[in-house]
Amino acid sequence: MPGCVNMPLSQTPRIAIIGGGLTGLSAAHRLSELASEQGLALDITLFEAGPKLGGIVGTVERDGYLIDTGADSFITNKPGALQLCQRLGLGERLQATDPKYRGALVLHNGRPVPVPEGFQLLSPSALWPVLASPILSPWGKLRIAAEYFIPARKNGSDETLASFVRRRFGSEALDRLVQPLVGGIYTSDPEKLSLAATLPRFLEMERDHGSLIRASRTAKPQAVAEDRVSSGARYGLFAGLRGGMRDLVDALSMRINERCTVRLDTPIVAINQLPTDPDALPYCL
Ligand SMILES: Cc1cc2nc3c(=O)[nH]c(=O)nc-3n(C[C@H](O)[C@H](O)[C@H](O)COP(=O)(O)OP(=O)(O)OC[C@H]3O[C@@H](n4cnc5c(N)ncnc54)[C@H](O)[C@@H]3O)c2cc1C
Repeated sequence: MPGCVNMPLSQTPRIAIIGGGLTGLSAAHRLSELASEQGLALDITLFEAGPKLGGIVGTVERDGYLIDTGADSFITNKPGALQLCQRLGLGERLQATDPKYRGALVLHNGRPVPVPEGFQLLSPSALWPVLASPILSPWGKLRIAAEYFIPARKNGSDETLASFVRRRFGSEALDRLVQPLVGGIYTSDPEKLSLAATLPRFLEMERDHGSLIRASRTAKPQAVAEDRVSSGARYGLFAGLRGGMRDLVDALSMRINERCTVRLDTPIVAINQLPTDPDALPYCL
């Protein structure tokens, strides 16, 4: 098997990380941190198929603007990313989002149009902004409003995000609002995403209230007020970096270059399990 290396167990443990996007970079960084905290020797190699690190994350400069071509911010109520930035010495470069520019836009007929106020990923918290939005046709708006009367599914099993939205709000809401919003967050096709794994609160809203619109009408007034002023993801909960997300990729790359071997332009085509051998690790790339 070309490229296959057997390694006696007595040697330094060897770890292969496949992919140099944020997941692979963070894994390499965390492993190096743990190794130095615990005084362990680890031989870590990161394999990246492409010519650069960062995966889908990237920042370009154009006409005096910094444009993040993938992720532009991260959630702050789960502290992992914030803490990582601080450990990487990026604390000073953290940038809170400006509430003045809160909201999401979707491209409609070639123009960026604001998502109706209060539209929270899958579901509106108020109907008037949906009815006034140019994004949807009159039929699409009616179909969203009809959600109030669509009976809840009896069988509480999981379904795809796309099937849930189509069933409750219709295809137009899926194509013109939900797919652009959710696709950007999960980097995935809503036809393949499990609702229970990604946005279980919407399943619970259907189960507990019979309708998502009804559920938001019974929500606490303060929560509804918050929903109405933000659309898309809750941008008040997000932070970015002054130099764009490339700052994070650069800082991670610099750190891991000190402690790991990085092999660019090296796609891994197979992971083979070796015949069991008590003196060798059982996998090779
Ligand atoms: C437009 C857009 C906006 C987004 N906005 C946000 C946001 O604001 N906030 C947020 O938190 N998230 C956001 N996301 C999601 C976030 O960017 C991704 O979840 C995250 O960057 C994924 O990182 P990853 O390392 O898992 O995957 P990727 O970035 O896809 O990296 C995978 C890497 O693995 C390499 N690779 C693949 N196969 C092999 C192989 N066989 N051998 C070697 N290398 C291989 C690829 O070349 C690639 O470099 C957004 C995504 C998009 C597309």
